[in-house]
Amino acid sequence: MMRPLCLWTVAMLAASATAFIPHTAFRPSSPVATRRCSRAVSRGTGVSMMSGRRPFIAGNWKENPDTLEAAIDLAKVVSTASSSASNVDVAVVVPFPFLVPVKETLKGSNVLIGAQDLYTEDKGAYTGATSLPMIKSVGAQWVLCGHSERRALFGDTDETVNAKLKKVLAAGLKAILCIGETKDEYELGVNKLICGLQLAKGLKGVTKEQMENVAIAYEPVWAIGTGLTATPEIAQDVHSNIRAILGEAYGQAVADKVVIQYGGSVTPETVDELMAMPDIDGALVGGASLVGEKFARIINFK
Ligand code: PEP
Repeated sequence: MMRPLCLWTVAMLAASATAFIPHTAFRPSSPVATRRCSRAVSRGTGVSMMSGRRPFIAGNWKENPDTLEAAIDLAKVVSTASSSASNVDVAVVVPFPFLVPVKETLKGSNVLIGAQDLYTEDKGAYTGATSLPMIKSVGAQWVLCGHSERRALFGDTDETVNAKLKKVLAAGLKAILCIGETKDEYELGVNKLICGLQLAKGLKGVTKEQMENVAIAYEPVWAIGTGLTATPEIAQDVHSNIRAILGEAYGQAVADKVVIQYGGSVTPETVDELMAMPDIDGALVGGASLVGEKFARIINFK
């Protein structure tokens, strides 16, 4: 009895979220059939011949490493590894105190730098907060919005995630919007509905033009830091559905340009198969991004 009710409820919620995104009647669509073909990346240009999307791999350092010295050492390894990964965009998303020294360490490399969160007020009596103008002023190019750890541990909601995302975009920076279902939701079979809902709420009010500065990270919560990875087929199924939803909201031409990363225990052993999927355009990497050699192999995926 519960299963149809839950599915129906979530479906209705997802449908009611459709008005949030401008330009179109936004409806979570039925999943698009998984295309079992290679993404056909031309390693000469780094751009998929099929999609025109350039792969984007970001390392999310979370609350690591524990010293500045270790952060600089890790940044040096990433900097060196990136020289052989010319066909992919690479970023490290680091704790606030490391933004400036890590950026300095990465000077001369192609590695981009990002922040893991922001507070939506620009300045004032908000002890412990870090504003977007601060993040921008130290040269960060990317900001994570709605990582599941911020949602679960620090009270981020779809509404605050949306406010943060719009703040980032209004300032001309780029945002990675993280979405993903919990284990319970996965087991109930509502992963695509949950992702559709988080997508619709997270992108409320975001324009077609602004989508050029948005990447989506599909990160099933059950796969983050657990060693469990969604199979390439599961991830591809969700990714293609995300793209279909974006297509309904913004038009296919816009949707085809949006980079959709997969995140959840990505390792050197799993990256190649994941990246071979047509709608998996990159990875958001936690644990493995803290081990220089592992991240080096991941950004040099085959
Ligand atoms: C993440 O932090 O976004 C993540 C995917 O972590 P991990 O790779 O450790 O699962």
